[in-house]
Amino acid sequence: MFSWSMRWAGQSVGNVVSDAAALPGLEEMPGLVRTVRTPEFAGVTFHEVMARSALNHVPATSDVPFRWTINPYRGCTHGCVYCFARQTHSYLDLDTGADFDAEIVVKVNVAEVLAREVARPSWGREAVALGTNTDPYQRAEGRYRLMPGIIEALAGSATPFSILTKGTTLRRDLSLLAEAASRAPVMMGVSLALLDETVQETLEPGTPSPRARLELVRSIRAAGLPCQVLIAPVLPLLTDRDDDLERVITAVAEAGATSASVMALHLRPGAREWFLRWLGEQHPELVEPYSELYRGGSYVLKSYASDLAERTRPLLRRFGLNRPSAWRQPSRDSS
Ligand code: SF4
Repeated sequence: MFSWSMRWAGQSVGNVVSDAAALPGLEEMPGLVRTVRTPEFAGVTFHEVMARSALNHVPATSDVPFRWTINPYRGCTHGCVYCFARQTHSYLDLDTGADFDAEIVVKVNVAEVLAREVARPSWGREAVALGTNTDPYQRAEGRYRLMPGIIEALAGSATPFSILTKGTTLRRDLSLLAEAASRAPVMMGVSLALLDETVQETLEPGTPSPRARLELVRSIRAAGLPCQVLIAPVLPLLTDRDDDLERVITAVAEAGATSASVMALHLRPGAREWFLRWLGEQHPELVEPYSELYRGGSYVLKSYASDLAERTRPLLRRFGLNRPSAWRQPSRDSS
């Protein structure tokens, strides 16, 4: 984690403080234009970069149902302690904890680059997924408004796409998304694993509340769009009691979700240490049981995963939510 305080003295543009110089450790950040702090985002630093490409190809060996992804941001102010994308911040010489939550890389030209990429005759209009790494509707999107240009570029080229988010900023773009859905298949997804706000506030401190996310599902459906809900990560021994699962699945169904899928927590390197620190602070009595449940590494014991699937399958079926997920993860992978 860097100390920034000295770096912002004296350089002000309106209510934005900027430093045109690259910062120590970030000199090599490709395309860095400037770093920005602004009062509406206390404690957050944006690193605005010019991206050279927008579409990332998914390796052919992956069994996810999309071949391309777009990530307008790196880092995520939603700050979920279990986020597997934390590891990617280490490639920028930033730490995977507080820096991931507060040092946000913004690809300010991503929509223009994407428009050029999808206009190429060689573009095959394969499915594109947003929200598989960091959240495209995190709070920064309210300031940078990158998604409208991305949606227009995808819709304009009749490219099918999906968006997975926890961010209620998405509501701003619903009419644009409904229009896009008339030109290409569009799948919306909301991630919501629990209803208990006291857990959510420490586990996912920068996210909209569970209630707000259920309202988002309602808004998406009211706009005429399909909406899958990713009920993940289910936390063993914390949010996995039968009545917890029944309550969240019932709430998701009542909000109008078209389908839902349930997955247990994964603890990959980069997220594992932050989650276990949170667990030690919030539920120290569970540290030992978790080391047993995750003794194989990043994934919970197969017996636990099978039991979770068996317990939730009838509930999903009862509400007609048991359709294939647009965000099926590579086998033994997830978020
Ligand atoms: S919203 Fe998604 S990308 Fe953002 S911190 Fe949470 S899990 Fe990670």
